Amino acid sequence: MLEKLKEELVELNRELPKNNLVAWTSGNVSARDVDSGLMVIKPSGVPFDKLRAEDMVVLNMSGKVVEGHCKPSSDTWSHLYIYQHRADVNGIVHTHSRYATAFAAVGKSIPCVLTAIADEFGGPIPCGGFALIGDEAIGKVVLESIGRSPAVLLKNHGVFTIGKDAISAVKAAVMTEDVAATVWMALQIGKPDEIPAEQVESLHQRYTGVYGQ
Ligand code: 13P
Repeated sequence: MLEKLKEELVELNRELPKNNLVAWTSGNVSARDVDSGLMVIKPSGVPFDKLRAEDMVVLNMSGKVVEGHCKPSSDTWSHLYIYQHRADVNGIVHTHSRYATAFAAVGKSIPCVLTAIADEFGGPIPCGGFALIGDEAIGKVVLESIGRSPAVLLKNHGVFTIGKDAISAVKAAVMTEDVAATVWMALQIGKPDEIPAEQVESLHQRYTGVYGQ
């Protein structure tokens, strides 16, 4: 079932190592199929280059495995919690990308000091509290702290991003690491100025409403 979505998820999971957002088997991508309401997620601990469509795990919104021979990602319950509480979200990504996770290690949000941050995130990328892996706890922290941003940092852990589909969430994960690296570099040579709220709003509206084709 959901063959096309499973193939797409294999490709999107592979984007994580391809973009240097994860090491070894860390990180995961899931998607919700809008028509059936089922979630498809990466199996736990399988190397990205070994992932096949048939290894993807399909679950319903109560967390029951509907199809799949592998154990689903350790973050499955948190992905489910997010889908259960955000009807607008159909894609979720988790990474340990280096620069963003360095901010998470010290519990700091990424300040809105670049137009790219205002564009994609509409303000600072917030940092939520610490939560253990394995149940819904991470999902709760994500939704408590994310605001209107598509990305949030989890203290001492890493990055979660959300989107209207899985590719949007992957894009947000790539952008998170890109701006985290630039802000980290900026912090080595000075104190970057925050963009005033009014300009942040204007940049975000242009990017989400006018930018592109
Ligand atoms: P999984 O391989 O189980 O998805 O775990 C990766 C991870 O980063 C957990 O936080």
